[in-house]
Amino acid sequence: MPPELPDMNRIAVLGATGSIGTSCLDVIAAHNSRLQATALTAHGRWESLAEQCHRHQPRFAVISDASLRAQIGGNAFPYKTEVSFGPDAIEKIACHPDIDTVVCGIVGAAGLRGAWSAIEAGKRVGIANKETLVVAGPLVMQLAEKTGSLLLPVDSEHSAVFQALLGGRRQDLKRIVLTASGGPFRGWSKERLEREVTVERALAHPTWQMGPKITVDSASMMNKALEVIEARWLFDLEIEQIAVMIHPQSIVHSFVEFVDGSVLAQLSPPDMKLPIQYALTYPERWAGTIATMDWTRSHQLDFQPPDLDAFPALRLGFEVARRGGTCGAVLNAANEVAVQRFLDGNLKFTEIPQACGDILIGHNFDAQPTLTELIRLDGWARKEMQQWKSSQSI
Ligand code: NAD
Ligand code: MG
Repeated sequence: MPPELPDMNRIAVLGATGSIGTSCLDVIAAHNSRLQATALTAHGRWESLAEQCHRHQPRFAVISDASLRAQIGGNAFPYKTEVSFGPDAIEKIACHPDIDTVVCGIVGAAGLRGAWSAIEAGKRVGIANKETLVVAGPLVMQLAEKTGSLLLPVDSEHSAVFQALLGGRRQDLKRIVLTASGGPFRGWSKERLEREVTVERALAHPTWQMGPKITVDSASMMNKALEVIEARWLFDLEIEQIAVMIHPQSIVHSFVEFVDGSVLAQLSPPDMKLPIQYALTYPERWAGTIATMDWTRSHQLDFQPPDLDAFPALRLGFEVARRGGTCGAVLNAANEVAVQRFLDGNLKFTEIPQACGDILIGHNFDAQPTLTELIRLDGWARKEMQQWKSSQSI
């Protein structure tokens, strides 16, 4: 039996000022008789958070960068909003008894603490922060099993798989196929990627509007690598049961294949408001806030296998998903720093997967790490990536 949705779903939006967070607030505002923004959090841009608070009147707001406290005047936030500071405050909000649903929209491994706290408290959790599952998938899933927390994917591919899986029995599943737009460099050769990628081009995604980190990840296909790992843990799959297909139109968000050969897919225009809304309303479906498919005109849907030689990040993703243990935490942390170095202009685009591969090979693998060990390795991999130099450039 799917769980019932509360009459008023009181929502904490972690990472409210980001791309996922603002879309989430749009969905909440469009359904304000059943959805309420009860808590909003942000890291740095407190002015945007204050503005959101004036618009949505939440009971709680959290600014996780505690050093900003001194800058914020007494009247910046609405009178009814209780403002607190620091990462601990995010954890407290995520498990607060007056919150029903936590949307994890923080970017990077920084999102793990809030997600963990929500799952520990048995909340309904909308997981956009794929890094939580990449870093600590098995531990997160065990915790959810123990507390009865309902994990609902917000990542569009995983939401599609979740929805398509409702069409059959879990034991009859053969495989899932995650679709990928291919990003701005779809069809480029390895050589062209080495020569012609610029930060500006990497940040210009053809079909999705997203934050800068995931946009660069989409260009390198590291995003799909992280999604393979995310799917492995979220749906408890063998690595042979996960495939990736390039689908440039971003209309088919993923599909599942059952043992009889039947393939079920979920289609919609590319807009994150749909998977966000489904995570907030499941098992119900409400009239959407987004444009729907236009079935009066013709559409073309293309599918191609990915080029693993030009985009070796995807190969790394499959390897990390297969090995499990500490690999996810190391790959994720190394990639976060590599993306920042690329954006800062001190790492080449094609060096991102190369450097991540080097750091993965050099780490002390453990098949069944504790959370403490994963957090320690996250710090280690970040330092290694800060110092990484290409062997060619020495
Ligand atoms: P973003 O950069 O637009 O927003 C990030 C949010 O996290 C901001 O509110 C920021 O204040 C907060 N934040 C940043 N660093 C933090 C820290 N150290 N501690 C606490 N809060 C911090 O990112 P986004 O594109 O919205 O992505 C958020 C997450 O959702 C990522 O994990 C991403 O992979 C995932 N996701 C995003 C999309 C999308 O369309 N944007 C799609 C699928 C999955
Ligand atoms: Mg995705």
